[in-house]
Order: sequence, then structure tokens, then C-alpha cells
Amino acid sequence: MTALETILKAQISAQGPMSVAQFMSLCLLHPKHGYYSTRDPFGTGGDFITAPEISQMFGELIGLCLAHVWIDQGQPAKVALVELGPGRGTLMADILRTIRAVPGFAAACDVHLIEASPHLRAAQKNTLTGYIPTWHDSVATLPDDQPIYCAANEFFDALPIRQMIRNGDGWRERMIGLEGDTLSFGLSEVAPLDALAHRLEDTKDGDLVEHCPAASAIMQTLGARIEANGGAALIFDYGDWRSLGDTLQAVRDHEMVDPLHRPGQSDLSAHVDFEALIADLHCHHSRLTPQGIFLERLGITQRAQALAKSLSGPALDQHIAAHKRLTHADEMGTIFKTLALFPEGANPPAGYET
Ligand code: SAH
Repeated sequence: MTALETILKAQISAQGPMSVAQFMSLCLLHPKHGYYSTRDPFGTGGDFITAPEISQMFGELIGLCLAHVWIDQGQPAKVALVELGPGRGTLMADILRTIRAVPGFAAACDVHLIEASPHLRAAQKNTLTGYIPTWHDSVATLPDDQPIYCAANEFFDALPIRQMIRNGDGWRERMIGLEGDTLSFGLSEVAPLDALAHRLEDTKDGDLVEHCPAASAIMQTLGARIEANGGAALIFDYGDWRSLGDTLQAVRDHEMVDPLHRPGQSDLSAHVDFEALIADLHCHHSRLTPQGIFLERLGITQRAQALAKSLSGPALDQHIAAHKRLTHADEMGTIFKTLALFPEGANPPAGYET
């Protein structure tokens, strides 16, 4: 039994079943035994691999996209360059390296990182030597008097979700309790949920809908800051418009595993419901765009060809595979989507349409 499993069972015995959101939150971010608190899970040797870890091209194109927004919005003198959930810091390092080629932008940027895990903050500090980032627990403490240029990759999928099962005009929440000494799923009593009132239109009894309260709160703060002070946010994640069905998944060592098995030792995530993400937003947003299309519009193929010139043998094969992995419809090109936030009256960032 993992140390966290003992803690979860004791809590359930004392207080009763916990929601999937509470379970996710403890499994990912328990200060001593949480998945992100204890390890660096990224890369081929870790549990899963993310776009910035696959190729530098991902961060380069995001850096250029943000630089273009900065120029388009009149090159403000002081801006916050923000990343939500930076993992190892690879994406931010690629952005910073790329924007050095854009006169004035790097000098205008202060780097701000939203990161809950002290372990990953240390990894980010290491990756970003030469820069002086400011770390935050939440977007609420970001500067409120500067434009925000923000990127987030696979951040929202890590936020805790509630899973609600339709029952008449109400919902029963999927809970985690104990069956004997084993963690198991159960259901709460039926209750209404205002945040899902609009889902009474398109669901029937027994349908499962996921709801991520933390994501909406972050988006609303971010949107309000962007509307007030300018900038943009580019959000990348897997998911779609309007969630339906159970998408909670646990990944360990590049394999799907049972989310209740060895809690704290697998990555838990859920598909992002982009419709819910932009609900009640205080700024403009782009169309939801497949990641592959966005990267192609920004010229990933030309960049891949330029980089390929100095590569040969296995390094070239790996580079070609990375390009395909990021963009191809049967790899990350379609299941991963991107959406941009920007102020009313501003142009959408390059690669996005309104
Ligand atoms: N963006 C990185 C890492 C994605 S994993 C990449 O693409 O490689 C999710 C990241 O979000 C991790 O850095 C994790 O520690 C962080 N995170 C998860 N939940 C968080 C929360 N509630 N607040 C701040 N950071 C969080």
C-alpha cells in the first residue's frame, strides 16, 4: 500500500467518501506524497511526454506567436510573461530563447510561473538559469497593472474535476469510498448543481458530465486581466467542446492504469471541456483549433526543414518523428486543441481565427 493510500483510507474512514476532485487534488499535490510533489514525471524515462519535451519547435512557435501579439498591441514597455504549470520549464526556456530574436520583447518581459509543486519549482529554476522568475501559487497574485502574455500546456487537464451523473433534474456525484479495505467508486445523494444547469438540455438519466470549478475560476481571472491590461493567453490541452462521459485517466510509465490503484504514483488527468473553460469569460477568445492546424499555420514544417539541415542519422529520424507526433491527426495533432484569449478590439493571435 502506498503512504498516500493509508492517508486516503484514514480520511475516508473518519469523514466519509470524498469527491473525485478531492481525490485528484490529494493524489497530485499532497505536500509529501502527491504525484507532482515528489517527482519529475516528464519525458521518455518518466510516465508521459508532453509537447515541449517532444520538440523545441513547440515552444519556439509559441514564443513567436506571443512576440507577434506584443508587436501588434504596440510593444508595451513592461509585461508579464506567464506560464501555468510549467513542468520542467522546457516550454518557457524555448520561448525565452526564441524571443531574444525579437528586438525589445525579452527585455520587456518579467517571467511569472504558476506552479504548485515545490519539487517542480526547483526543476524550473534549474532549467531557467540566467532568468529571475517569480513563482505564484495562483493567478490571483499576477501583476494587475501589466499586460499578460501567457502560455499553458497540459495544465488544465491536471486540475481536479467533479464527476456528476444525471438523475432526473439533479445529479449524483461520483465519490470514492471504501469497500472493505479497498478504495472504490460510489455515488452521492441526488442534488441540483447550478454550474451544470445548461447540461440538462443535452443529457439524459445516467449520463456522466465532468465539472472543473478550479479551471473556470482561473480563466475568469486571467480573462479579466487580459481585457483590462492587454496581452493574450494561449492554452493547449487535450479535450473538446462540451464534455460527456468519464475521461478521468491514470497514466504510469506510458500506460493507462486504474486511477484507484497505487494513488500518488500515477498521473491523474481528465479531458478539458473547452466550452466550460470559456464560460463567463471577461475577454474575447478564438475558435477552438486543433494543435496540428495551429502549428502548421505558424510554419512548423518550414521550421522542421530548417532544423533538419543540421541533423543526420538517428537524430534526424527522431526530429522527423517529433514533427509528426506534434501535428499528425492520428497522434497529437487533433486530440490536442488550442484556444487563445485576447482583449476585445485586438486581433486574434497568429494561427487562430475568431
Ligand atoms: N506544462 C508542462 C507540464 C504539464 S503537467 C509540460 O507541458 O510539460 C502539469 C503541471 O501543472 C505541473 O507542473 C504541475 O505541478 C502543475 N500543476 C498541477 N496542478 C496545479 C495547480 N493546482 N496549481 C499550479 N500548478 C499546478
